[in-house]
Amino acid sequence: MVKKILAANWKMNGDQNFAANFFAEFEQFQLADYQQIDTVFCVPGPLLSTVKTQLAQPNFYLGAQDCHAEDKGAFTGDLSASLIKDFAAEYVIIGHSERRAAYAETDQLIAKKHQAAIRNGLTPIICIGESLAQREHEDFLGFLKEQLKASLALDCLQQNFIVAYEPIWAIGTGKVPAVADVAEVFAQLKIALRELAPELDIDQVPLLYGGSVNAGNCKEFSALVDLSGYLVGSASLKAQDFFAIMKSLG
Ligand code: PEP
Repeated sequence: MVKKILAANWKMNGDQNFAANFFAEFEQFQLADYQQIDTVFCVPGPLLSTVKTQLAQPNFYLGAQDCHAEDKGAFTGDLSASLIKDFAAEYVIIGHSERRAAYAETDQLIAKKHQAAIRNGLTPIICIGESLAQREHEDFLGFLKEQLKASLALDCLQQNFIVAYEPIWAIGTGKVPAVADVAEVFAQLKIALRELAPELDIDQVPLLYGGSVNAGNCKEFSALVDLSGYLVGSASLKAQDFFAIMKSLG
């Protein structure tokens, strides 16, 4: 069984004051009881250094929300994986559906970002997910398998990576899929990984669920055998809710 992982995606939220208040409140909880859960705070780039100083538990890690496929160059406004690493971050989210949609990021680009992350010693959290239309009208399981395969760089699969299944229609909507549906998706993703890289030990690839996970619904998902943890958006901005989610994985 792989380690439990809880990843916070703060998105474009928070500032230095928010971070200080968040961790001051978070540290009031019994965090030491949950040191078996790798807990990753994926914060906006300018907050990386300040949040790093606030990670008081040995199982707390720093992460970014995206990286460029190149390590440096004329890419105004972008963040390289090497700079993220320089801030002592260890994880990076790539292929989030918000970036795929807003910046037209393709699977091929995500695969290049996968390489950039690995090249720079970061563990990528690679996101995939179907739209509501795909779920209702298409072979969405087939779509997810192909999306996963195309978003991965074949030459990087021997290094640690994490897959986050985040149905687009569940992100920020309060809607979640049935637990049995997530189980089916995970089963298909494992088949996709096996097809892509038969030599890979797929039981070592953490599978996260993301999309409207909150303090109320997290317990139902924790029954999922193949679930390694969650990628959490809005509930990760509330210390109490985020701790409740952490407890459900404990
Ligand atoms: C996300 O955007 O990664 C996410 C899971 O968001 P939320 O939890 O707010 O749905």
